[in-house]
Amino acid sequence: MKQVSVGRFLWYLFAVPHCAACRKLLAPQDALGRYAGCDVLCPNCRANWENEKLALCSVCGEAHIDCRCMPEVLRQAGAEGMIHLGEYRADSAIGRTVLRLKDTALHRAANFAAAQLAPAFRRLCADALRRPEQVIVTYLPCRIDARRKCGHDQAELIARALAHHLGAKCMPMLQRTGGAAPQKSLSGSARKENAQKAFMLAHHAEPAGKTVILVDDVITTGSTMEAGVRILREAGAAAVFCAVLGVTAEKKR
Ligand SMILES: [Zn+2]
Ligand SMILES: [Zn+2]
Repeated sequence: MKQVSVGRFLWYLFAVPHCAACRKLLAPQDALGRYAGCDVLCPNCRANWENEKLALCSVCGEAHIDCRCMPEVLRQAGAEGMIHLGEYRADSAIGRTVLRLKDTALHRAANFAAAQLAPAFRRLCADALRRPEQVIVTYLPCRIDARRKCGHDQAELIARALAHHLGAKCMPMLQRTGGAAPQKSLSGSARKENAQKAFMLAHHAEPAGKTVILVDDVITTGSTMEAGVRILREAGAAAVFCAVLGVTAEKKR
């Protein structure tokens, strides 16, 4: 806790920060520390988070953060690549943070996660990012009723933070049609069919010729992401890359 500014200390007193994953109150010596994410996760969850990023992908053998595996449906839809932080499990640090972001607009947590996706994108889209004005970060909007209930969209929070880290613009390019059922209630082909009618190109969105980074919190079957990629490619996006925090284990290919 050396050299903590008065501003940071006041922030601690007023924000009373809790760990985004386990919800424990962050001790001042941790929250005011100097390591990345110290004001987001407790030291224990921070260590778990890092281990989850470095755990090896069962398909390619690379650490998750370096893994470039992508569900085949995304490739078929025209996605160029996908980056994820780790495997999604409801009891993992990444998984618990994702669940927390659905309920609460934790900007610090979204920013922390985006800061770790950003270096991977700088490598994956190095050419496109030489002209950041050609890159647009966007997101798969959550269901209209979910947004109404919690007042924010977790994918939008992550997308805005990622755009900031990449020096690119963030703008909504997809919107919900309002005509689809919750994906959770469906399985297999029903999910795919449902997802295809869930989204449309947003008014004023002009993806033609742009490199688009499409953000969501978690990818399960890939159906919703696939629908988003397809719409963007059909509207002329030069390339679409996908970004998620977590990938469910069995759907990596
Ligand atoms: Zn914790
Ligand atoms: Zn892999």
